[in-house]
Amino acid sequence: MATGKIGVTTENIFPVIKKFLYSDHEIFLRELVSNAIDASQKLRTLATFGDFKGELGKLQVEVKVDKEAGTLTVSDRGIGMDSADIDRYINQIAFSGAEEFLAKYKDTANSIIGHFGLGFYSAFMVSKKVVIRSLSYKEGVKGVEWSCDGSPEYEMKEIEKSDRGTDVILYIDDDSKEFLENERIVALLKKYCRFLPLPVVCGKEQEWKDGKMTDTDRDLVVNATEPLWTRKPSDLTDEDYLRFYRELMPGQEDPMFWIHLNVDYPFTLTGILYFPKVKNEIELQRNRIQLYCNQVYVTDQVEGVVPEFMTLMQGVIDSPDIPLNVSRSYLQADSQVKKISSYISKKVAEKLDKMFAADRKGFEEKWDSISIFIIYGMLTDEKFYEAAKKFFLFKTTDGKYYTLDEYRALVEAEQTDREGSVVYLYSTDPAAQYSYIEGARDKGYSVLEMTGQLDNHLLAMFESKLEKTRFVRVDSDIPERLIPKEDLKNAGLDALQLDIATNLFRSALPAVGDSQFVVSFEAVSAAAAPATVTQNEYMRRMKDMAAMQPGAGAFFASMPDSYSLVVNTDQAVVKEEIDKAVAALTDKVKPGLDSIAELDSKLGETRSRISDKEIQADEKKRLEDEAADIEKKIADTRAENEKAVAEYAASAPRVGQIIDLALLRANLLKGEAMKAFISRSIELL
Ligand code: ADP
Repeated sequence: MATGKIGVTTENIFPVIKKFLYSDHEIFLRELVSNAIDASQKLRTLATFGDFKGELGKLQVEVKVDKEAGTLTVSDRGIGMDSADIDRYINQIAFSGAEEFLAKYKDTANSIIGHFGLGFYSAFMVSKKVVIRSLSYKEGVKGVEWSCDGSPEYEMKEIEKSDRGTDVILYIDDDSKEFLENERIVALLKKYCRFLPLPVVCGKEQEWKDGKMTDTDRDLVVNATEPLWTRKPSDLTDEDYLRFYRELMPGQEDPMFWIHLNVDYPFTLTGILYFPKVKNEIELQRNRIQLYCNQVYVTDQVEGVVPEFMTLMQGVIDSPDIPLNVSRSYLQADSQVKKISSYISKKVAEKLDKMFAADRKGFEEKWDSISIFIIYGMLTDEKFYEAAKKFFLFKTTDGKYYTLDEYRALVEAEQTDREGSVVYLYSTDPAAQYSYIEGARDKGYSVLEMTGQLDNHLLAMFESKLEKTRFVRVDSDIPERLIPKEDLKNAGLDALQLDIATNLFRSALPAVGDSQFVVSFEAVSAAAAPATVTQNEYMRRMKDMAAMQPGAGAFFASMPDSYSLVVNTDQAVVKEEIDKAVAALTDKVKPGLDSIAELDSKLGETRSRISDKEIQADEKKRLEDEAADIEKKIADTRAENEKAVAEYAASAPRVGQIIDLALLRANLLKGEAMKAFISRSIELL
């Protein structure tokens, strides 16, 4: 028997392994099983090169739980180790046998070398003692047993072992008893070893017999040894891809399409990415891409490895070139990983471009479901944006699709404003904004459908990237002013008329939550709506953006909405109502208005005297009182005028009707106001 110290530089490697190396203790099983698989594949490689002439036999890995003995054993029939190997590969833990093996068989061995570093030692995360019993494939060597109880000291002795290969026996720690449950082990194997290239056996298949589940004599193989992504795309049918998807993502609707990735230069990467059908964007879930390293499951936390927007996709990526056991922040900074990420992004763009070119109609049919991925990609990945410019589609409210260039050509002539900017009109809710869309269409404009949750950001991005382009929501102004080409003609009201008309419409405005309204008058056209409610594009966007930001944003977002009520003085009913009101109210209102004009000019004089630098303090005080007095008189007179107009408004129900129709079109007529509108409508009938 030999004893010795494990050749590591620190005395306390085990506590380090236990605590810091892996946050997930369960991965020890992945490490041991993949070592066993590696050892088996190495033997196969040796046989291929004629360096092993014996019987390969059935190369499989067996995992066995013995609850009574408190052990978990991983056995293989691979190359095994003699005492020199153990010394080298296990005792000198900094020295990984992988490199030596790779040097010798570098052309074929590449794919079977694990990149798991301290893999074997992860067994100590869950064990109080680990025993290795091994018999090397080499002729004439003796079996060897190595054991270690977690201190840096080990024991090694010769043993009788008749069959080639290695058993790693873990004496499971008291705080890790869960790993002595057969179901738990099977579940872990299914998670980490599901696609390993050699059969992994754990217990027996079970069947229902005599009223309970009973072991059969068939081995339970937990894995599929030839997963789809390792096969040649040309050998596979759509049905193969769909079947694999259903296995990978049970309970999901079939995907729309997929991309089979297959590179071997400048790095090795295979995989299949599926585009799920997206019915509802809220549903989107991340972490549906599984990362493998030579068919060993590593993680489904792929942020940093695949481009961010692709985390919305599903599938598998397998690459031995991704450094796996390092922290996420390291992963994200790794230049190899960055290359992989941009490669995947490029591949996805190419595939989409091909699909678009090959079958435009089919692409359009898929657009509503795939646009979220593409838009997300364009927003977050500059290179993807450049590639996507060719196949990004605008959808119009009449259900047609245009590329960026096509759409520009379509609207340029009609929708260029007087500053030379092309104005893209859009609707965020075609049902609610229906009449505004109609209004714009009547003017010969096209309206885009921008109903996605990223569209706000998308249009802001287009505004910064496309030259002389502006996006305007279709309800942000009356159709005549959506795309300003020339000034509208004057509303044709003098000061008195304007005052009466303003008070008249204001007094008839119902309360709409805590929203604020500005009433204005425009000579739009005889055929246009009598009044329209609009919401300023800039203000609305500021609020929308603010709503997405915490802190001060929330305050801004909680401010009341402000709208404009634009009254069309060219419209017959409006004209009549204003004329009638002016006729009925001039006598009452004019004296007030005249005196307001007088008071205003007096107030101006007083104020200029107050601002005189030479003025005495007591004189200033007197003038300030006088100004306050005038201001009060003006306010009172105004209030009196407003009151007179409001009284009159009671006898002009059509004004209320005009306003309510405008509110109704803007979906703002609710509750009490809706009820009043309905009763008034009935009365008017
Ligand atoms: P890595 O797998 O990254 O090399 P490990 O600590 O897991 O690191 O293993 C160290 C070395 O021990 C392996 O490279 C291999 O040479 C040897 N080894 C581990 N497990 C086995 C096994 N089951 N059969 C044969 N050799 C093994």
